[in-house]
Amino acid sequence: MTMVPDWLTDNRDLATLQAMLDSTSSSSLESLAAESKALTLRRFGHTMTLYAPLYLSNHCSSGCAYCGFASDRKTPRRRLEPPEIRSELSAMKKLGITDILLLTGERTSAAGFDYLQHSVEIAAREMQRVSVEAFPMSVNEYRALADSGCTAITIYQETYNRERYEALHRWGPKKNFIDRLETPARALEGGIKSVGLGVLLGLSDPVEDALSLYRHIRHLARTYWRAGLSVSFPRMRPQTGGYEPPFPVDDHFLARMIFAFRIALPDVELVLSTRESAAYRDGMAGLGITRMSIESRTTVGGYHDTETNEKGQFDVSDNRSISEFCTALRAKNLEPVFKNWEPAYNGPADGNISTILHP
Ligand code: SF4
Repeated sequence: MTMVPDWLTDNRDLATLQAMLDSTSSSSLESLAAESKALTLRRFGHTMTLYAPLYLSNHCSSGCAYCGFASDRKTPRRRLEPPEIRSELSAMKKLGITDILLLTGERTSAAGFDYLQHSVEIAAREMQRVSVEAFPMSVNEYRALADSGCTAITIYQETYNRERYEALHRWGPKKNFIDRLETPARALEGGIKSVGLGVLLGLSDPVEDALSLYRHIRHLARTYWRAGLSVSFPRMRPQTGGYEPPFPVDDHFLARMIFAFRIALPDVELVLSTRESAAYRDGMAGLGITRMSIESRTTVGGYHDTETNEKGQFDVSDNRSISEFCTALRAKNLEPVFKNWEPAYNGPADGNISTILHP
């Protein structure tokens, strides 16, 4: 078995974060919230960046026990063809979305690298910012993806507990714990400007996972000091297959984790998706979270086909429209930000600005 890298077992300077994550510690949730709110305001102002996911394909070669798209589910499989992608993008633009996250399952012959790269090219012509949450790739593949207009990669380790990881990832490429662990670094090596990390809360001991997630971010920040970094806080939601999370995370712990990460990592973008309820997201807005999804459809083709009975990767909890959500943000004195990125800054992957100015 391949050894884990040293940074994953580096316990230096973890005591403060550990204490903040401990619900029996002296730091009350209210005092953490106040400190987190002040830091968020100082670093990010009164803003909330908005994005939406676009599921390109639900083909998958892996068998994650907790996922509705695992290859043993009876879910009908399909991928969007280029005209359908354009149609989805057009429907999203009508909603006001210009910052998108393209998703696929683990690499298959139906939806592999070439398909993904072509999809990024199509999306980058229409959208201000294109991120990808798909499968681990090589440095060269990430370089090609960056050249096609992808600026950010989301790749969750799901859990950093290796034993739990082995048990949950029953087959397929995702079973390779170390390969996944090294994926964010490969993306940054390949010229992707920003990486998003996270654990799927509910799969394993949340304190242990939070500490390892912090170690991972700390390692990347030290090694790739120019990289953009973000952390998401996905909590298990009902999905096809009916997997019951063995380590359910309650609202209080999730809030504690968000505040603790803001205090420990003041410059890192913190993301909360529509997995969480409207009331919870409204409560967290301004207290630490700086980026949220909205109008999420977790089915393939869900923006165009709004009547579909198909099951998505997971159930969306906050189903508000963009305008309803923006009203709620403004009521909290937060300005929704749809465009935080000029595509002119996207490339090239080699970072040589003269290539942009004199292509
Ligand atoms: S989590 Fe991703 S890799 Fe795992 S089964 Fe679902 S789509 Fe496939």
